[in-house]
Amino acid sequence: MSIVIETQDLWRIYQTGAQEVAALRGVNLQIERGRFVALQGRSGSGKTTLLNCLGGLDQPTRGAVRILGEEMKNWSDEQLTTWRREKLGFVFQSFGLIATLSAYENVEFMLRLRRVAVTERHRRTLACLERVGLSKWGHHRPDEMSGGQQQRVAIARALVNQSPIILADEPTGELDSATAVEILQLFRQIVQEDHVTLLMVSHDRLVEQYADEVLQLRDGQIVK
Ligand code: ADP
Ligand code: MG
Repeated sequence: MSIVIETQDLWRIYQTGAQEVAALRGVNLQIERGRFVALQGRSGSGKTTLLNCLGGLDQPTRGAVRILGEEMKNWSDEQLTTWRREKLGFVFQSFGLIATLSAYENVEFMLRLRRVAVTERHRRTLACLERVGLSKWGHHRPDEMSGGQQQRVAIARALVNQSPIILADEPTGELDSATAVEILQLFRQIVQEDHVTLLMVSHDRLVEQYADEVLQLRDGQIVK
């Protein structure tokens, strides 16, 4: 058994003027390699804050985060960025694709950032587009694709670095339920085949059928 995502008494308190908002109030989390874990909870319960703290996009106020056994404490922005590109894939509700780039270029861009050689970039980009069922869509831009297709491009982009961990924040939030099911099935298949660890925030009750485990966040604390 190997724990790849871990937090200990994690707090994140936002200071807005004179007001303090405790978005996370002592979260203790342990996720094993190869698991598909869903994180549910009402709007404002701290789900995005937790994901951001795990991905090094936000700094905890107190407590510890360990990803793949490493604590990203006092790292420079540059260190964090390099680390994030290597270890994590991100998928967001609003897809986050670059509008001026084709599907192929959106996926390949990740490999350019990591200075992967051109033939290898080509091979991996095509393989990932095929993986998500978009072999024929590589030359299309995001605005020429459906929401489900755009999310598939985003998933291909998250896969192309072969990162051991994928963090997804409401990836089905803007999709109709039939398309949401397709995306959840795709994620399930990826976890199964690649043994990646997936933490997915979702409002969707559907996710319970696909995840290995469902965690509930309430007012900044895990209650289940
Ligand atoms: P969720 O993703 O579950 O909807 P969030 O993590 O976005 O919840 O937010 C948790 C709480 O923290 C909310 O009360 C929200 O208003 C607050 N919050 C989130 N981000 C910020 C921020 N940058 N500044 C101040 N408060 C924030
Ligand atoms: Mg959120």
